[in-house]
Amino acid sequence: MSNWARVELEGNTAGVAGKAAEMLEREISERCGTNGRANGGAVRILLAICPGAGTEGFTIRNGANGSIVIEGHDERGLVYGVGKFLRGCRMRPGEFVPSPWRGSSRPEKPVRAMYFATHFHNFYHDAPVEKVRRYVEELALWGCNALSVWFDMHHYNGIEDPEAQKMIERLRAVLDAGRSVGMGGALTTLANEGYANSPEDLRADWTAGHDGYHTPPGGHYHVELCPARPGAIELELKWRREILDAFSGIPLEYVWLWPYDQGGCTCSRCAPWGVNGFLRISEPVARMIRRIRPEAKIVLSTWYFDRFTGGEWEGLAAKFRNGAPDWVDYLMADDFSKGIPQYVIARGVPGNLPLLNFPEISMENMWPWGGFGANPRPDHWQKYWDRAGDLVSGGFPYSEGIFEDINKVIHLQFGWSPRRRADDIVKEYAEAYFDHEAAADIQRAVFRLEREMPVSVGVDSRQTGRDAVRYSVGSRGQAADTAAILADVERRLAPDVRRSWRWRILKIRADIAAEVERSGGRPTDSTEAWLEELCGIYHADMAEFAVACPSVKTLARLHGWEGGNRPENTQCF
Ligand SMILES: [Zn+2]
Repeated sequence: MSNWARVELEGNTAGVAGKAAEMLEREISERCGTNGRANGGAVRILLAICPGAGTEGFTIRNGANGSIVIEGHDERGLVYGVGKFLRGCRMRPGEFVPSPWRGSSRPEKPVRAMYFATHFHNFYHDAPVEKVRRYVEELALWGCNALSVWFDMHHYNGIEDPEAQKMIERLRAVLDAGRSVGMGGALTTLANEGYANSPEDLRADWTAGHDGYHTPPGGHYHVELCPARPGAIELELKWRREILDAFSGIPLEYVWLWPYDQGGCTCSRCAPWGVNGFLRISEPVARMIRRIRPEAKIVLSTWYFDRFTGGEWEGLAAKFRNGAPDWVDYLMADDFSKGIPQYVIARGVPGNLPLLNFPEISMENMWPWGGFGANPRPDHWQKYWDRAGDLVSGGFPYSEGIFEDINKVIHLQFGWSPRRRADDIVKEYAEAYFDHEAAADIQRAVFRLEREMPVSVGVDSRQTGRDAVRYSVGSRGQAADTAAILADVERRLAPDVRRSWRWRILKIRADIAAEVERSGGRPTDSTEAWLEELCGIYHADMAEFAVACPSVKTLARLHGWEGGNRPENTQCF
C-alpha cells in the first residue's frame, strides 16, 4: 500500500477485479515511491463493478469526500478504467497528482487482441515468464481483451515430446497471465498442421506447376497432412483434441484455422486449397473444437489467398453466397504493407462474416526485427486504419516482441475508439510512460523515427568482425536532430523513467541512427554498447538472426567468427 493512494475494492477482491486493484496500487507505488504523502493525505480510490457504461466500458467520477470512483461495467471494464486513470496521473518519485479525467467510455470494436509469436528465441520465447506476465498485464490496461499463441507442432515429435511439453507449459503461462487480467485465450492453428514425424504417406503436396499452382506455398513445413488421403482428417482431429486437452483450464475465446504460411496442400484433390482442401479439413476440426470448447469462436483465416494460385477469394465468396457455414464465426484477412486485401474492400466480406485484421507490426522496415530498438509507425497505421478500419470488428496484430509496443497501443486504441488519431494515441503513450510536459516533444520524435526507417544491417561474408558489418539507416542526415530532441526530453524525465525499457528502446534507436550517420555505417564502441543493452532488454542472448540485436558480438555468435560451427537458421543478406 502506497502513501499516495488508498485503493478500496468493493465486493469480491478475487479474480480480475482484485488484479485491477493490485495493478493500480503497484503502478502508483513504483512510480511515486513510498516516501512522501499527497497533500491532505492519501487519495481514496474506490473500485467497483457497476453496470452502466456498456460492455467492457467504465466510468470515472468524483466520489464523496474527495475520493475518486472507478466503475467497471464488468471486470474487463474495471481493468480498462484503471488503465485510463493511470495514464492521466502525474507520477514521479515524491509526487502523485491523480488524473483529472472524468466521464464514461466504452470500446467500439469487440476484438482488441494480440498474437504473440513464441519462436526464434524472441522475448516471448526466452524472457523470464514473470516479465512476459507483467507485459501482458500492461497491455490489458490499454484495452487488450484477447491473446493468441501458437503451439507450432512441426518442431516436435508428438505431444509427449519433452520439448513440446515445455512449450505447452510456457504457452499456458502466457495465456494464464492474460486470463488474470480478463483476456480471452486464443489458439492459432494450421488447418492441416503436422508434427515433425507425421506419417509420410499422409503428407501434403507443396509443389507448384500443376493444378493451378504457379508458385509453391511459402513457408510450407512439408510435414502438414493432405486431407484427401484416407486417415489424415482423423489423425488431425486426434492431434488437435490432444492439444485442446493440454490447454484445459484455460478459457479459449477464439481458435484460428490457418491456410498458408505455413500449411496448405496443392494436390489435385485439394487445389485450390483455400476453397477446397482447406475447408474440407477445417469443418470437422472446427466442429470438434466447438464440441470440446463451446466458448470458442472459430476464426477462418484467408492469409495468402490468391498468392500461389487463383480464384480463392472468388471461390470463397461463391461458396458463402447464401451465408457462411455455421462452423465459422469470423473471417480473418490481411497482408503485409498492403493491408486488408483489395478483394474485400471492393466486394465485401464473403458470407458477410465479421472481419478480423492481422496487421504485421513487427517486421517491416527494420532488419533484424526490432534489432535497433523501437519501430513506431503511427503514420503507416493511421493510413492502414483509414483504408479499412470500418470493415473490421477488430483484430490480432502479429507481434515478435516488445519493440513494437507503440504499434500495439495504436491498434488497441483504434479498436477502442476508431475515430481517434494515431498522433493523439502516441501522445497519451508518452504521457503514460514518460512525462506529461514532454509528451508533445516525444510525439514529434516518434514520427521522426518512423520517417527515418528502414534500418538494417548488412554482413560482408568475405570479412569477419567489425570490418564485415555495415549498418544502414534511412534518416538522410536527420538522425542527429531526432536524437537531440530525445536527449533534451531525457533531462526532464524522472530517473526511473530514464532507466525504463520503454524509454531505452526509443532513445537507443535514435542514438544508434545518429551514431551510424557519423560513422558512415561502421560499428563503433557506442553502437556496440547500445545493441548489447537492447539484447539484455529483449533477453535475446540466444536469438536467431531475425530477432537478434546485431552487435558485432552477436553477429560473431551467429556467424561463428569466434570459432565453432555456423549455427543453423542464420540469415543474412
Ligand atoms: Zn491434398
